[in-house]
Amino acid sequence: MSPASAKETARVLLPVLGAGADPGATEAEPDARPRRLPPWLKRPIPAAGGIGFTRDLVAELGLETVCESAKCPNRSECWTSRTATFMVLGDVCTRPCGFCAVPRGKPEAVADDEPDRLAEACARLGLKHVVITSVTRDDLLDQGAGHFRDCVLAVRSRLDATIEVLTPDFSGRPDLIDLVIDARPDVFNHNLETVARLQRAVRRKSQYATSLAVLEHVKRSSPAIKTKSGLMLGLGETTEEVVETLADLRMIGCDFVTLGQYLQPTARLLPVVRYLHPDEFDELGRIARAMGFLEVASGPFVRSSYHAGEMAQAAPSTPLPLV
Ligand code: SF4
Repeated sequence: MSPASAKETARVLLPVLGAGADPGATEAEPDARPRRLPPWLKRPIPAAGGIGFTRDLVAELGLETVCESAKCPNRSECWTSRTATFMVLGDVCTRPCGFCAVPRGKPEAVADDEPDRLAEACARLGLKHVVITSVTRDDLLDQGAGHFRDCVLAVRSRLDATIEVLTPDFSGRPDLIDLVIDARPDVFNHNLETVARLQRAVRRKSQYATSLAVLEHVKRSSPAIKTKSGLMLGLGETTEEVVETLADLRMIGCDFVTLGQYLQPTARLLPVVRYLHPDEFDELGRIARAMGFLEVASGPFVRSSYHAGEMAQAAPSTPLPLV
């Protein structure tokens, strides 16, 4: 799929869907950066104790979660309902993305018993849908793909649940992606994170085309596995660029898409350029559905794994074909 064809799709879709006017999304304007959370991003302080079971279990089994590492704003809600997204392969990442709170550095050796501990946690939480993600491990020969496979197999051996992997790009290497595919996850999720123009600023060592190639490879080699991707909004992208990105994903048959508000996890990470109003998320959700995605989640608090089980279970059983 060429960038030109995605641009053409966006050019056609924007006026048809009434999204040609871009009410506020523009290039980054440093002086206009919002400093306060808008009212729709303020949440009541959660009741104490709700997250205790999940927190204690994660600690007891020595696991990592992206909920904590990425300072996810939904942690109270998800953990209270005994849902978590487990982050395997350690808590140190080899890539310096500008949006992510996971520490960067030299990771430790992979723990061989992690798949069993992960499966134990999923069983005790009684998960019906398991989401497994990881840090990026460019230091490993297989970049952690074999460990992903082992984690999926371990979880499947312990419980009857759908399984979603949210992977790094494995440098786009088909042989490594195939290691994960071999374990037959139900959903293969890999995030573009942002539009093409902002990749270098936001993801730094990762590339838009490589990420599209990962998802396309999964779709070509295993059409029964649903593919999924997500974008953080509010980093300076325009609505037209978002629609172009959605068109790129549709061109490779991506089944699910998530759109959520970027929130700056710590002061040293990229600032928020703009807070999108919930109405804008609704409109982008409508656009994505009109483009043919099987399932779409679009809202300020949407994250890749937010209500991932509902998304996987609501979708028709037949994945989309390549366009
Ligand atoms: S949305 Fe995902 S990462 Fe955030 S708390 Fe929920 S399960 Fe964890």
